[in-house]
Amino acid sequence: MSIEVENISVQFGGVHALKDISVRVDPGRIVTVIGPNGSGKSTLFNSITGLVAVDQGTVCIDGQNLARVPAWQRIGRGLARTFQTPRFDPRVCVEDAVLCGFYPVSRAGILGAMLRLPVVARQERAFSAACDRILDDFGLDGLRHASLGELPMGMVRLVEVARAIANKPRYLLLDEPAAGLTRAEQQLLSSEIRRIAASGVGVLLVEHNFAMVRSLSDHTVVLDRGALLAQGHPEELMRDPAFVAAYLGS
Ligand code: ADP
Ligand code: MG
Repeated sequence: MSIEVENISVQFGGVHALKDISVRVDPGRIVTVIGPNGSGKSTLFNSITGLVAVDQGTVCIDGQNLARVPAWQRIGRGLARTFQTPRFDPRVCVEDAVLCGFYPVSRAGILGAMLRLPVVARQERAFSAACDRILDDFGLDGLRHASLGELPMGMVRLVEVARAIANKPRYLLLDEPAAGLTRAEQQLLSSEIRRIAASGVGVLLVEHNFAMVRSLSDHTVVLDRGALLAQGHPEELMRDPAFVAAYLGS
């Protein structure tokens, strides 16, 4: 049981966005990906979720090769993600944005909803209760009726993470979720990520803030222009002079 990315390469025209990259995410572990802009972090995410086709190598989830599984079906394999640049309708309120996260797994279907079957009503009550718990956990309870357009970007990112976990994914991919967050929001997000991982979810996180990376990661992968520069536990990386020189700039 894990996400296994093995020796993938991705090229866009003449740009080698990823060169022979391997990453493994086990349940309950937090793996971070760091590297300067353009080093291939988002491309790695897109390769896992299926938005980008890999030229070489394989992506497997729980032993199953995803090569022929389209992006929209990968949700059903237990993947959830957030995007580096959230796209959202500014009129949608926080509660509805999180509730949206439940619907891909709804089994009752549209016909069931039109017929107002009791099973649908039961499911909606369950979703609504689960949504309340998530809003509470994320400290978003007081904002449930606020529309996304009124919120600072930091809060929108928290809502994105809340929506992503609504489906109870087994693997959660977060692309720079802390960008634009205040320190307090970052701390709330970090403790949420820790709690999500402790519940058995494998987390893959792209993050620029090394303090946050250091406090969260079981394993860190450092990319540089599409290639692997270093990897290991953050404390191990901190003892690697090549990493410190290249990444921390001292
Ligand atoms: P990061 O997330 O680390 O900033 P990206 O994965 O977004 O890096 O980009 C890696 C490289 O691939 C960059 O040179 C970027 O310009 C290029 N790239 C990413 N996506 C595309 C795309 N869809 N088409 C063409 N080039 C792309
Ligand atoms: Mg990116």
